[in-house]
Amino acid sequence: MPEVNGRWVADMKAPRTPDNEEPAAERAHDFRPVDKGFTEEMAVAEAARCMRCKKPLCVQGCPVNINIPAFIEKIYEHKFGEGLDIIHEQSMLPAICGRVCPQETQCEGKCIRGVKSQPVAIGQLERFLGDQPELASKPKLAPKNGKKVAVIGSGPSGITCAGELARNGFDVTVFEAFFTGGGVLVYGIPEFRLPKTVVKREIDGLKDLGVKFQFNSVMGNLANAEELLGEKGFDAIYVATGAGLPKLLNIPGENLPNVFFANEYLTRVNLMKANKFPQYDTPTKHGKHVVVFGGGNVAMDSVRTALRLGAEEVTLCYRRTEAEMPARRAEVLHAKAEGVKIHELVSPLEFIAGEDGAVRAVKVQDMELGEPDASGRRRPVPIEGAIEEIPCDVAISAIGTNANPFAKKIGGMELNKWGYIVADEETGRTSNPKIWAGGDIVTGAATVILAMGAGKKAAADMTKVLLGEDGE
Ligand code: FAD
Ligand code: SF4
Repeated sequence: MPEVNGRWVADMKAPRTPDNEEPAAERAHDFRPVDKGFTEEMAVAEAARCMRCKKPLCVQGCPVNINIPAFIEKIYEHKFGEGLDIIHEQSMLPAICGRVCPQETQCEGKCIRGVKSQPVAIGQLERFLGDQPELASKPKLAPKNGKKVAVIGSGPSGITCAGELARNGFDVTVFEAFFTGGGVLVYGIPEFRLPKTVVKREIDGLKDLGVKFQFNSVMGNLANAEELLGEKGFDAIYVATGAGLPKLLNIPGENLPNVFFANEYLTRVNLMKANKFPQYDTPTKHGKHVVVFGGGNVAMDSVRTALRLGAEEVTLCYRRTEAEMPARRAEVLHAKAEGVKIHELVSPLEFIAGEDGAVRAVKVQDMELGEPDASGRRRPVPIEGAIEEIPCDVAISAIGTNANPFAKKIGGMELNKWGYIVADEETGRTSNPKIWAGGDIVTGAATVILAMGAGKKAAADMTKVLLGEDGE
């Protein structure tokens, strides 16, 4: 019982409540959500583990500084709506961030309970509340102010900015290149990790606030910044086009049939439903022996998608070791439990074609770890002469992405030499006083919560500037 003589005392004996997962052997063959989330009983028991620290480090660990102990206390008191309102002060996407944030390096990584035992399951508790949006207080809406804003891109950054602006009384139109909204949340992160209904609920909520969505609209082609701010009559633009351009491996055989970029492979399945071909008309190769290169979330989503498409053997090849993988720890553990093999310390050299012209194997270079590089991780160094061949009928490259090239076509603002938009971290202001930007197109590939936070900060600044309360 946390309350003793009116004072909160954490339940120090209780172990961390285990995740509510589907059995690995069953879930690995379909797209059902892997984690069913906490029940009310589990959430309240886990809430009792929080120590309500005077200086909660978890809050510092969260990139948007959610008042974590306060919402956890509300869970303990069964005041779930009030808990959700506390989260909404900083984040409108708790059902999403609770599922996909790298908690172990953020809030949970700083939780004091993690020093001697296991950190409080903050992500699970946030998700528990986020999955009950009907309990939240209705947002206060400012009266319409007559100003029009164009948001380009409907990923977490764009939709957060759009929602904040709509609540502040702006007339907001979101332009999205795809036929549906959500960005990476729908085309990249698979259903088994983030159900599409969760994202749709957020988009529908924005529509209820009056936000207009114009899908199938590739800005830069359809209209550039000058046209949006001129003949189209917008007062300002928020650019959140993401960083979805795949990085090339630049090795022989990269163009062979059945060698994919992860984003293409995942988009085919997540967005175009290639797993249900021919019911849906996008095919993809259902490989039996699949090799994926990379060690981040994108690589994990690729290996686990390949398993669900019926692969008998899936190998994740990474040039460092498992300890250095940047993916969320939970995804690595889930992938291994589902049967993915991890081949550490290898780097691809060449894809080799079979008689049919499609990939039949990949030649890899064995590596060892040397001195730490700029990222602080030990640099992989080739071992001379140590080369091996791994058979495969599908190979997927998930080694990272570059800036979306459409930022240049949208124009009107300064880009850096890599094509990312130069924008102020705190306000999202670009070199053009009528254009703001945020998310991956500013930071490079990062996280959902950072993209969301950038959208929120930019909306606050746009509101100040456009309504003449800047004070500068
Ligand atoms: P995006 O989500 O990329 O959205 C950009 C949107 O802009 C897209 O919808 C795109 O179609 C649209 N667009 C682009 N150009 C135009 C144009 N010219 N006109 C109109 N629309 C345009 N992060 C985590 O925190 N946890 C995870 O577990 C995680 N897993 C990931 C898994 C995968 C497979 C991928 C690819 C990324 C993952 N990330 C994860 C990273 C995270 O998803 C991104 O950092 C985040 O989505 C960036 O948000 P954004 O709004 O800046 O851009
Ligand atoms: Fe943790 Fe992410 Fe929630 Fe912040 S938004 S408390 S980092 S799960």
